[in-house]
Amino acid sequence: MAPNPRIPTPEGLNAEFYARAQSGVVHLQQCSDCGLLRHPPRYHCPRCASGSFGWSPSAGRGQLFSWTVTHLPFDRGWAEEVPYISAVVELDDGVRVVGSLEGVAADELRIGLPLTLRATPLAPEFTFLTFHPCQGEAP
Ligand code: ZN
Repeated sequence: MAPNPRIPTPEGLNAEFYARAQSGVVHLQQCSDCGLLRHPPRYHCPRCASGSFGWSPSAGRGQLFSWTVTHLPFDRGWAEEVPYISAVVELDDGVRVVGSLEGVAADELRIGLPLTLRATPLAPEFTFLTFHPCQGEAP
């Protein structure tokens, strides 16, 4: 059976990031020397250049920083999903994460909207990240 073309196969540090998220909890890279959390994953700390790091669980809460609404899919695998919202969310951890935004209409979005992050495994090597309005939060 051919692999689903919609599911990417991450490599390197990205593979490590998505593998950790299989548990449903997103883990962020954290510098072992200065403690800075960073995302996306990279080999050296942007603050102190250290190559030592660990992974720290995120509470998965943040605020909408920016978004785009896709009406014309460039990949036919997403044709039935349009329109869909891709969001950049600033987590309370201090890093920005990109994911799909669900549970809110595009015309109800506003910068600063409180969101929660959900990690859903789609394959053993990939976890789909989605954001949802916080419980009880009106857009
Ligand atoms: Zn550092």
